[in-house]
Amino acid sequence: MNLNTKAVHTGERKQAGKYIPVTTPIYTAASYVYRDMDTLDRVFAREVEGPSYIRYNNPTTDALQEVLTALESGAGTLVCGSGMMALNMAIQAALVDRRRSIVAAKALYGATIHLVVKILEPSGINVRFADFNNLDEVKAAVDEEKPACLLVETISNPLLRVAAIDSLAEIANAADAALIVDNTFATPAVCRPLELGAAMVVHSLTKYLSGHGDMMGGAIISNAAYVDILHATARAIGPNLGPFESFLALRGIKTFPLRMERQCSNANAVASWLASHPCVDRVYFPGDPNHPDFPVSTRLFPANAFGAVVSFELKNVAGREGVFAFMNALKMIVPATSVGDVHTMVLYPAISSHRDLSPKHRERLGIRDNLVRLSVGIEEVDDITADLDQAFYRTTPV
Ligand code: PLP
Repeated sequence: MNLNTKAVHTGERKQAGKYIPVTTPIYTAASYVYRDMDTLDRVFAREVEGPSYIRYNNPTTDALQEVLTALESGAGTLVCGSGMMALNMAIQAALVDRRRSIVAAKALYGATIHLVVKILEPSGINVRFADFNNLDEVKAAVDEEKPACLLVETISNPLLRVAAIDSLAEIANAADAALIVDNTFATPAVCRPLELGAAMVVHSLTKYLSGHGDMMGGAIISNAAYVDILHATARAIGPNLGPFESFLALRGIKTFPLRMERQCSNANAVASWLASHPCVDRVYFPGDPNHPDFPVSTRLFPANAFGAVVSFELKNVAGREGVFAFMNALKMIVPATSVGDVHTMVLYPAISSHRDLSPKHRERLGIRDNLVRLSVGIEEVDDITADLDQAFYRTTPV
């Protein structure tokens, strides 16, 4: 089945009974009864399919997990209350029975760096950072560290470096380490890391998959080796996504491939428009032939799909004051801290996604103080460029 078809049908109309709802309803019940105790016992033992208690399973959440498994070509999915919880659960699952050590990409979302450095490392987990666009460096780090897992983003935030997932999976699998890929920016419409050998794929469902900026959630879609570990760990920890949020994600996913197609094509147009704009110093976009990872993105991604985030540096703007003036001057584009909604959004990494890093750390990562990140929406592309244009000319010295 094609991605568009899976997004619409998978997980739906599962209830066999007198009547079948056409879309999965929100099941709010905390627990379920069966016609006798023996059946309930067999449900708990997982000999008979069915929900028992809301931390173990829920029909709305199950439908969401099923469609995510299909979209990412996985063996199973665990959904969580946030993308950060999903990242945490994926790492915990990889660490079971393995050396307490991870090799992480230097270029990661700010909160992920915070999780690794401020939470995991002080709890006794060895953390080694490497440049994941340099495969020799990754291999050397893996050979030395013998880590439980490798952690990388398919398209990094906010400089949009593209990871060679297939080569990284080879390195990880040869060392019996789990490759964990945060696929939030790429989405399964652009890249499906499990098909390339990754062990677990993580999503912030808050972004493209739900797509409307109205819920928070996370997911780990895994290969067969991690399905049971993830669910067993979840039963003990309770990181669950509630049924209301599961419903919103499930509803959003139905139009996700359609939205993403439009967002990717809008992003291609906006990136080339920005590249020749006199108020823009530099554009970061994996579909730009001058981007350092253009060969990787054209090898791994479908034609003309490079994600829908475009980052750029403002010309003759040193930092916060000039960037704020530009962002305040936008009339339609929303200056909001997220990515992947239907509306176009602009974000200043230095005060939001990478705020928790010191200015020196940001500088080392190449995140300059005049960098802004644009999440391109589904509007008419001319309206997006017109809004950027008027804001540039009102605030950016040429
Ligand atoms: N991963 C990436 C790449 C993100 O951009 C984010 C949030 O911005 C997260 C993970 C965390 O997701 P959430 O905010 O749903 O916890």
